[in-house]
Amino acid sequence: MRKIEHIGIAVKDLEASNLIFEKLFGAPAYKQEEVESEGVKTSFFMNGPNKIELLEATNPESPIAKFIERKGEGIHHIAFDVEDIVAEIARLQQEGFVVLNEVPKKGADNKLVTFLHPKGTNGVLVELCQENPN
Ligand code: ZN
Repeated sequence: MRKIEHIGIAVKDLEASNLIFEKLFGAPAYKQEEVESEGVKTSFFMNGPNKIELLEATNPESPIAKFIERKGEGIHHIAFDVEDIVAEIARLQQEGFVVLNEVPKKGADNKLVTFLHPKGTNGVLVELCQENPN
């Protein structure tokens, strides 16, 4: 695993949160994207070298809707950049982590992604992401 790629924050109202983070960073989101398979709408902000992803649920079955129901708004996941996601999944499974998507899937921001079950990582949902060449 390499650097933190981004931090994901679950929000109830993406448009309202966009305005808050735009004020916070002094710059608007550089990208907005809907990931239908995940039931989310996302916005991405850069602040210096750091990337923040805001996530709003687009349906009640979305993992983001369920997260907010249980825990309220807030930090949802930490994403790490990996060079070879398939190799990293194999390594982490060997170490006993529960990988939620054994076959990496297409996430927001043109990445291949998977998640580790937070029960194995002290309650932190960890995302692995690899820059997707396609
Ligand atoms: Zn993410």
